[in-house]
Amino acid sequence: MTARTSRLSGFHKQSVADRIARVAEFTGLSAADQALLAGTGHLDAELANHLIEHLVGTMNIPLGVATNLRIDGRDVLVPMATEESSVVAAVCNAARQCYEHGGFTTSMSGTLMIAQVQLVDVPDPEHARIRILERRDEVRAICDDCDPVLLKLGGGFRDLEVRVLDSRSGPMVITHIVVDTRDAMGANAVNTMAEKLAPSIAAWTGGRTYLRILSNLADRRLARARCEWRAEDIGGPEVRDGMMLAYHFAEADPYRAATHNKGIMNGVSAVVLATGNDTRAVEAGAHAYAARNGRYTSLTRWEVTREGHLAGVLELPLAVGLVGGATKAHPMAQVALRMLGVRTAEELARIIAAVGLAQNFAAMRVLATTGVQKGHMALHAHNIAMMAGAVGDEVGAVAQRLVAAGRVRVDLAEAELAALRAGR
Ligand code: NAD
Repeated sequence: MTARTSRLSGFHKQSVADRIARVAEFTGLSAADQALLAGTGHLDAELANHLIEHLVGTMNIPLGVATNLRIDGRDVLVPMATEESSVVAAVCNAARQCYEHGGFTTSMSGTLMIAQVQLVDVPDPEHARIRILERRDEVRAICDDCDPVLLKLGGGFRDLEVRVLDSRSGPMVITHIVVDTRDAMGANAVNTMAEKLAPSIAAWTGGRTYLRILSNLADRRLARARCEWRAEDIGGPEVRDGMMLAYHFAEADPYRAATHNKGIMNGVSAVVLATGNDTRAVEAGAHAYAARNGRYTSLTRWEVTREGHLAGVLELPLAVGLVGGATKAHPMAQVALRMLGVRTAEELARIIAAVGLAQNFAAMRVLATTGVQKGHMALHAHNIAMMAGAVGDEVGAVAQRLVAAGRVRVDLAEAELAALRAGR
C-alpha cells in the first residue's frame, strides 16, 4: 500500500468538484460532507474560486444587524458578520443607552496609507537618507505614474519620509511613501508604487533594496469616535464608576488590555468582514497602534465629564475600502455596503469606529455589573443546547431549562434534552 501524500499535483488546475472528490479520497469525508462543501450558498463557486486558491467550499458566517445606532446625527443599521453570540446584542444595548443623548460623533484623520522600501548595504546611511529626500519630485512622479485611476480620483502620492534604522544586520535606510488611496484599502495600490520606486532608490544611493510593502500600522488613517453616556441612562453613578475602574485596569495591564481590545475588535472586525474588507489588516493595525508608545494598552479612553457623564473615545487605524479586494466582488459585501448607505471609505471607517466604541462600552458595563457569564447565559445556553444535539424548537426549550437551573453545561443539556424527548 502506498502512503497517502499531501502533494496533490495539478490541484490548482482542477475544477472545484474534482478538488472536493480528491480531498474526500484523502480524508475519507462522507458524501454528506462533500455535498456540504459543494453547496457554496450565496457565494458562487466560480466567483469564490477567483478570490482564493485551491477552493473547495465557502464558510457561512451569521450576519446580524446592529440597531439603535445614531452616528453623526444619522440613524444607521449596521451589518455585522460574526460567529460569536452576544456581540450584536451588545452594540444594540450600548447604542440604545446613548441614543437620546445624541449618539456617536466620528471623524477621520485622512485616507493615507504608508508603503515601506527597505535599503541595505549602504556605508553612508545618513547621506543616503538625504539623497532620497532630495528626490521628492521624482518619487512623486514614479508613484503617481503607477495609478492614473487613483490620481484622477484625487488620490496619489502625498509625502516622503526616510529613517535610518539600527538593526542586527546593521543600519538600514527605510523609505516611507505616504499615499492617499481614497476609497480603496490601498494595499495593492501602494505595493505597486513601492516596487516601482525601489530600483531608483537603489540607483540613487548605491545600496540594495529588499522589502517593498505597505505597513499595516496605518496611523495616517485614524478613525475616531466619541460618545457620552449619561449616568442616569446606564444605571447610575455606581455603574459609571465601576466602568472607570474596569477601564483603568485595562489601561494599566496588558493582560487585561488584550481582552478589552479584543472586545472592541468583536465589533470592528464584524463590520469589516461584513463589508468584504481585510480583517487581518485592520486587526494588525489596531494592536500595533495600541502598543505604539512601547507598552500595549487600551485602544479606548474613558473619562467622567463635569456633568458626571461617562465619556468614551476610540481612535484606531482603519484601512477599509469600498473598492478592491472582496468588497466589490462579494455579493453579500455589496448588500452590506448598500445597507450602510456609505458613499466613501471614510464614512465606512467612521461607522466602524462607533461600533467599536459601543462594543467596548457594553463589555465594560456588563463586566462591571452582572458579570459576563450571567449576561451571556441565555445566548450561550442556545449554543450548548445545540452542542448537546438539540434541533429546532428543542434548542430554545433546552436553553430555557439550563438558564432556569442557573447552570449551563453540555452534560446537563444532554440530560435536559433526553428529558424533553421523553416528555418530562
Ligand atoms: P485593488 O488594487 O483591487 O483596488 C484599488 C485600485 O482601484 C486603485 O489602485 C485604483 O486604481 C482603483 N480605484 C477605482 N475606484 C477607486 C476609488 N474610488 N478609490 C480608490 N481607488 C479606486 O485593491 P487595494 O485596495 O489596493 O488592495 C486591497 C487588497 O489587498 C485587499 O484584498 C487586501 O486583503 C490585499 N492585501 C493586503 C495586504 C496587507 O494588508 N498587508 C497585502 C497585500 C494585499
